[in-house]
Amino acid sequence: MTFPTKRATVARRAVPFLDISRENSPLTASIQAAIEGVCESGAFVLGPECRQLEDTVARISGVPHGIGCASGSDALLLSLMALDIGPGDEVIVPSFTFFATASAVSRLGAKPVFVDIDPRTYNIDPQEFAAAITPATKAVIPVHLFGQPADMNHIMTIAEEHQVYVIEDAAQAIGAVHLDRPVGSWGHIGCISFYPTKNLGGFGDSGMMVTADDELAERLRLLRVHGMKPRYVHREVGINSRLDSIQAAVLNVKLQSLNDWTNARRENAERYMRMFSTARMSSQLTLPSVSPESHHVWNQFTIRVHDGMRDALREYLNDQKVGTEIYYPIPLHLQACFADLGYREGSLPHTEQAAREVLNLPIFPMLTEDEQETVVHHSVQFFASEVGRLTDYRPAA
Ligand SMILES: *Cc1c(COP(=O)(O)O)cnc(C)c1O
Repeated sequence: MTFPTKRATVARRAVPFLDISRENSPLTASIQAAIEGVCESGAFVLGPECRQLEDTVARISGVPHGIGCASGSDALLLSLMALDIGPGDEVIVPSFTFFATASAVSRLGAKPVFVDIDPRTYNIDPQEFAAAITPATKAVIPVHLFGQPADMNHIMTIAEEHQVYVIEDAAQAIGAVHLDRPVGSWGHIGCISFYPTKNLGGFGDSGMMVTADDELAERLRLLRVHGMKPRYVHREVGINSRLDSIQAAVLNVKLQSLNDWTNARRENAERYMRMFSTARMSSQLTLPSVSPESHHVWNQFTIRVHDGMRDALREYLNDQKVGTEIYYPIPLHLQACFADLGYREGSLPHTEQAAREVLNLPIFPMLTEDEQETVVHHSVQFFASEVGRLTDYRPAA
């Protein structure tokens, strides 16, 4: 009687999609001290910590002005307000992005005009931007999606030719560089988010606008405090979107590690590239494409899964306790709230295909090589053993 031979099995642990505590816990003492400092000062809103953060983020972005606010979403809204965008105006935006890029436009009564992406970088296609310009076009909002700068060189040329304002959505891309200019310094205003999942994340919501334009900076500072200057005198109707000193204090501490974390993200990305290439997965997956003009900061590592297998792979990885996400499953031009704009399935083919195929893998700075090996191992296993069994698999309608 023979027994099946016992094969050595490596115990594989769960891999979280994102573990923020790994970057925060080494800094706990400094962060707590910084928070206590704010509590003792009593200056909870727009205190000195905020100015310090504004100056540092402006410097990183290569511009003189940083204007803190309550979120990245508000940064977009305030930027559009400062450029007097409203009813009758069109603002060109990608559809393959987070909701806030377009909702800020709608909130002000202007019309978001959705355009398609370059399928390699997932960023707005400059040609599509050019083709969408009309006499009503007031601005464009290129998004530096997943941490890779949009093609700002071409976008600025087109925008200048047609006198269109440029607001950069750099929510996912602090520290990224296109050619030799940081994101946020190309357009009229750059918008940054410090939401906890971003490359520089606070202990809650906050955001910032950066600009080289003195007058715009002044206007943004006014608009974030109800258009009030001096106290109780209102020259125009702004909103309440101030930066909390506690968030700024936390971010000032975390900023000291941002370079190291960005480098760690870049190393993780390169390691995935090597691991997936060695595993010869190119017929099943497309790896991210990095423009030679870009310094990519890898807020996300985004693969494409071919042949309608994305959801099945995600389910398999989930069963193996590997966390993944889908950014973004429903393009904005197909969202119910924008139905009256008249887009249909098929309007933006590259965007729609990306929404069906993309899968975001763990890429956070403290992700270990072993964990990455686990992610790749299970992905390979899925295609080696599960595909046959799943040939009848159909994505849920
Ligand atoms: C996160 C994000 C925003 C909004 O930032 P919040 O701080 O969450 O309001 C806007 N655009 C993009 C592309 C984002 O990823």
